[in-house]
Amino acid sequence: MSFLIVSPGKDPKNWVEALKNQHPGLNIYVYPEDHDKEEVDFALAWKHPRGLFKNYPNLKVIASMGAGVDHITSDPELPENVKITKVVDEILEEDMGNFVLSLILDHQRDLSVYQRQQAEKNWSPINYKRNKDVKVGILGLGHLGLTTAKILVKNGFNVHGFSKTPKDIDNIESFSGENELEAFLEESEILVNLLPLTPQTEKILNKGLFQNLPKGAYVINVARGEHLVELDLIEMLDQGHLSGAALDVFWQEPLPEDHPFWEHPKVLVTPHIASVTHPRYVVPQIVENYERMMEEEPLKNVVEREKGY
Ligand code: NDP
Repeated sequence: MSFLIVSPGKDPKNWVEALKNQHPGLNIYVYPEDHDKEEVDFALAWKHPRGLFKNYPNLKVIASMGAGVDHITSDPELPENVKITKVVDEILEEDMGNFVLSLILDHQRDLSVYQRQQAEKNWSPINYKRNKDVKVGILGLGHLGLTTAKILVKNGFNVHGFSKTPKDIDNIESFSGENELEAFLEESEILVNLLPLTPQTEKILNKGLFQNLPKGAYVINVARGEHLVELDLIEMLDQGHLSGAALDVFWQEPLPEDHPFWEHPKVLVTPHIASVTHPRYVVPQIVENYERMMEEEPLKNVVEREKGY
């Protein structure tokens, strides 16, 4: 019975420490150190090498180190019977909500514009809308999307959301299914993407979708880089249909030095920092699932493999 951590390029020191504090008896290996593959029944993973897990005959669970699971589900050689779990964490949700709120306030009150004006000693006040007059659409009303929507409502914004299935949430209008996507977009002066990355949602932020947003709309992508067709965004910004974009996630991270987003005057680039998983807060739920696996009890926060999230 062993626990394997696989997170190439990411130092697992804090995870090992938190796991040992939570469960001192746990036998932990850190990939690629030498270990017996037959012994491993539980893996904690972030961007594992494709095909790795098919070599573990007794593996029962792969736990994602974060809320996203696309880095696991996109592996075509994932063993069929292995369960996948994700992190569900109030702190992660609140951090995401506060980050999106900051981006919206920065845009709405033109703080970045004033920073540029200051550099030119340019004193030019800009009219602004009050929060209640700003319509924010959230794509994805899951753990992060719903908390973000509630934080925005608390701050007086006019919020509506889009999900696969309809929702009944106070003060948040629900749109669902492909038939309602257009109506949802027409209402979205600010569009926030918090969808999971699945074959259905990859490249969903494309020209056709942007054209359904009102002129001057602002786009925030804090979900996954692969949701966005980058050239379509640049075209819609340059044509003036979109007023700007805040991007936290990218097809290639770190964003390559020669990428046009770095210098685009209408794009705010942040380095995948919207909401960061803190090992010490989420290790208790991972250890709880390890113990549930040992006791053959149902796991928590299981990903539905057919849905991909
Ligand atoms: P969840 O799985 O909890 O929520 C997914 C939501 O999206 C659900 O409301 C679901 O609808 C909806 N959805 C899924 N597929 C579709 C579809 N095809 N059409 C319409 N709606 C759909 O996700 P999380 O809230 O945990 O994560 C959201 C995103 O945030 C992920 O992409 C994750 O990778 C990213 N993330 C980014 C971070 C950052 O720092 N930038 C940090 C952490 C996560 P329904 O409710 O009907 O099932």
